[in-house]
Amino acid sequence: MVDLKGQYEPIKEQVNRTIQEVIDTTAFINGPEVHGFQKDLEDYLNVKHVIPCANGTDALQIAMMGLGLKPGDEVITADFTFAATVEVIALLQLTPVLVDVDPVDFNIDIEAVKKAITPKTKAIVPVHLFGQVANMDALLELAEEHNLFVIEDNAQAIGADYKHKDGSTSKTGTIGHVGSTSFFPSKNLGCYGDGGAIFTNDDALAHTIRGIVNHGMYERYHHDVVGVNSRLDSIQAAVLRAKLPHLDNYNARRRAAALKYTEHLEDHPKVITPNIVSGDPNAHVFHQYTLRLQGVDRDALVKHLNANDIPCGVYYPIPLHKQKAYADARYNEEDFSITNQLVKEVISLPMHSELDNEQIEYIVTKILEFID
Ligand SMILES: *Cc1c(COP(=O)(O)O)cnc(C)c1O
Repeated sequence: MVDLKGQYEPIKEQVNRTIQEVIDTTAFINGPEVHGFQKDLEDYLNVKHVIPCANGTDALQIAMMGLGLKPGDEVITADFTFAATVEVIALLQLTPVLVDVDPVDFNIDIEAVKKAITPKTKAIVPVHLFGQVANMDALLELAEEHNLFVIEDNAQAIGADYKHKDGSTSKTGTIGHVGSTSFFPSKNLGCYGDGGAIFTNDDALAHTIRGIVNHGMYERYHHDVVGVNSRLDSIQAAVLRAKLPHLDNYNARRRAAALKYTEHLEDHPKVITPNIVSGDPNAHVFHQYTLRLQGVDRDALVKHLNANDIPCGVYYPIPLHKQKAYADARYNEEDFSITNQLVKEVISLPMHSELDNEQIEYIVTKILEFID
């Protein structure tokens, strides 16, 4: 699905040198590379505060802790996403409220969010799924009207742009009150282990979060709040710092590969290719290239592709509201008609910055010979 070796080759010398420097200086924890990466990412995202942490799941959890959400507060998020999003809500004893998604962009459905808001609702967590930005203007409007926080799960969309109604643009993850991301190796900006970060333009929130990631300490050995230990280590920061200048290029290459796939597949009556909803190509950074199949035995296609040495993925095969850990008697099946349908139809093809036309053509040929 990804080609991390191929992506490493052209930057090998620089990456190796910077890792060696960390080892030579033994500044393994909170070394200058961590601070340097933080500043570089703040500049790239045009956001006031980046707080690095250990992974994308921690980033979401810490964002919610930073906002002071309390047990029983309701947090609305999408039914069709990776489980980390709902996991941290449940872990903090907040009440997850899963809602359906939009069939066109797979992102949280605005009408469903509206219906789910109650006096207990405190936050909405849009996930920019597969690399495409959710409808943030509509969510921010709703949030303002009902006095809610918007927490962006930007683990799949780093580098994407959102064009606001007024024509201005923001990087995803910096639009709501707080955003989170993951630097898991296969993400669009991945390190060589685990990593994550939290973004905000709110000075007070940034201060709170900097304490939370460090055992609730604002002054050495004074623990003012219950915190966690969640750090990006210096070696990972060094890798990310070397890779960040290439992120736009990586995303452009993903987008070019996506266009190629679409060119070959969009006219097939049994295939729905991904849409770029906003019409702005930078609004989608194709963390995944995900098709909807209609009238095709999806699981047999997966086997056919695997038999031809083509990896593929089903993200996600089970809606969160049907997972044992998150099922709840409050949910009605008829409220999840889109997710219930998507889990049967979706297939994600290999997608990464090293994918070439020959590989794409081979993959497309193998798909078409199966579904025709
Ligand atoms: C990858 C991912 C996460 C979690 O990131 P980790 O670094 O693996 O903890 C959270 N949300 C979404 C949508 C993701 O894709």
